Amino acid sequence: MADCLFCKIANHEIDSLVLYEDDEVLAFRDIDPKAPTHILVIPKKHVDSAALLSEADGPLLGRIFSVIAKLAEDEKLEKGWRVVANVGEEGGQTVGHLHFHLLGGRQMYWPPG
Ligand code: 5GP
Ligand code: ZN
Repeated sequence: MADCLFCKIANHEIDSLVLYEDDEVLAFRDIDPKAPTHILVIPKKHVDSAALLSEADGPLLGRIFSVIAKLAEDEKLEKGWRVVANVGEEGGQTVGHLHFHLLGGRQMYWPPG
């Protein structure tokens, strides 16, 4: 998608602080962190949001979640962490390319805002 911010980050057309990369997945630090650890994990292929995922995406999601678990370990979040995927306007999604927030390093609260 030519005009997608996270496609541009995935293609390295826009700089980011990359923590993990393979042929399908990229993880980079959020530019405006909401916790001491705030990492975004995205598929390199463009998917609008989690609303468009199907069973066929199972292997990709498995890879994404194993990357998230490894990053949580690297960031020493053994006391706990949170994964969030905002979907659509009311869900608080501001970038229209599927991404999972990995948040940690402070107490999380429930319900979220
Ligand atoms: P959303 O609100 O869609 O769930 O999450 C989008 C996230 O992308 C936000 O937490 C925001 O801070 C982050 N973000 C927006 N633009 C950039 C950018 O150019 N670089 C990085 N690293 N993060 C960004
Ligand atoms: Zn995209």
